[in-house]
Amino acid sequence: TEHFLARMRQHQSLGAFLAVDEDASRAQARLADERLAAGSTAALEGVPLAHKDIFVTRDFPTTAGSRMLAGYRSPFDATVVRKLAEAGAVTLGKLNCDEFAMGSANENSAAVPVGFDSAQPVRNPWDSTRIPGGSSGGSAVAVAARLVPATTGTDTGGSIRQPAGFCGITGIKPTYGRASRYGMVAFASSLDQAGPLARTAEDCALLLSAMCGPDPDRDSTSLDRPAEDFSRQLNDSLDGLRIGMPKEFFADGVAPGVRAALDAALKEYEKLGAHLVPISLPRTELAIPVYYIIAPAEASSNLSRFDGVKFGHRAKNYTDLMDMYKKTRAEGFGDEVKRRIMIGTYVLSHGYYDAYYLQAQKIRRMIADDFQQAFKACDVIAGPVAPSVAWKIGEHGSDPLADYLADIFTLPASLAGLPGVSVPAGFGEHGMPVGLQLIGNYFQEALLLNAAHRLQ
Ligand code: GLN
Repeated sequence: TEHFLARMRQHQSLGAFLAVDEDASRAQARLADERLAAGSTAALEGVPLAHKDIFVTRDFPTTAGSRMLAGYRSPFDATVVRKLAEAGAVTLGKLNCDEFAMGSANENSAAVPVGFDSAQPVRNPWDSTRIPGGSSGGSAVAVAARLVPATTGTDTGGSIRQPAGFCGITGIKPTYGRASRYGMVAFASSLDQAGPLARTAEDCALLLSAMCGPDPDRDSTSLDRPAEDFSRQLNDSLDGLRIGMPKEFFADGVAPGVRAALDAALKEYEKLGAHLVPISLPRTELAIPVYYIIAPAEASSNLSRFDGVKFGHRAKNYTDLMDMYKKTRAEGFGDEVKRRIMIGTYVLSHGYYDAYYLQAQKIRRMIADDFQQAFKACDVIAGPVAPSVAWKIGEHGSDPLADYLADIFTLPASLAGLPGVSVPAGFGEHGMPVGLQLIGNYFQEALLLNAAHRLQ
């Protein structure tokens, strides 16, 4: 804990942390020491971790990257936070992220990182002029810069896999419903999933085992599947593993350096006994319009709770209740969040619901069916995490579409609720890390971590 607290102080300029409390962390570490001395064998006893600032925590403030929640402190811990603490973890702080997890570059955070007096872009430790990916940018940077051994993140449309890929670390989004969403500030409830980011698949397996499990009283979408030991298959042979290669994932539009790194990784898999099988996911391109209808629709509903009445920011000067709502939301939300609330409200409104939202739901089902078709011919599906390496801070300017398009390879698994892991696969353009994405069928996390581990 002391080692990592020192690293965190030394590398504040990366902008990864939004809240630290060294004394609170030390107190937790001392308790872990006492438990260890008393013979504790808890899986993560004394292991320092940090949480994406989208998980509510009692001991640290929670902002979700938004001015709306500046100064907010939750009266309870998110289930994932509680479970990791019960496994012995010591919390080192809260990590920067895009506002309400909306973004692909961590450039949408309105929260002020530790050591700064205004909001800052989070910096990729491989090149501090580049973005770390998002929305779990702080979570990926903290691991990649060795500020903490492992972190939590959330993935709605790629927010664990993509920053892990851009920062050269490992991250896994489990099957939708594996981890409880209780205490995760909601973005798009039918897509949001928690998962770990760490240096290795082995570390991810340890964390994921502690994070998952049913939570029927608090999250009605948490699955009735007992907690599993996701480490159990780590060293299994890959002999005969069928790796599906969707032609849509290996088409034009992927940067040559990214493609070369993926090809090299796939060759390694062949050497380990795996077979590459051509497959098709024909509706890949539709994942972008479908996701950017469904996610904003759910967000517009979820974010209606931020009205200045119950918690968070409230405008100072207003004339009546409606004026208070309007001013509070105008001041509290950033541009990207407002854009999504407007898109979401539009696609859910009378006269447009059938044309947009309902259509999107139908295509979402077809995308899920395409995966089931593909899994008849393969055990896991390989692809890029993103079409390029991490871009420069500010490079996409104020063009939100440029960010949306870069999500093309992570959105399909999210829409289908499938697990996906990002595995470091060498380096591409500008010497930046490349992530290989492996997608598994429902509940195949142990197999995914096995495949990721064998490459490391
Ligand atoms: N980049 C996607 C978005 O902006 C995904 C974000 C996420 O997974 N939280 O919605």
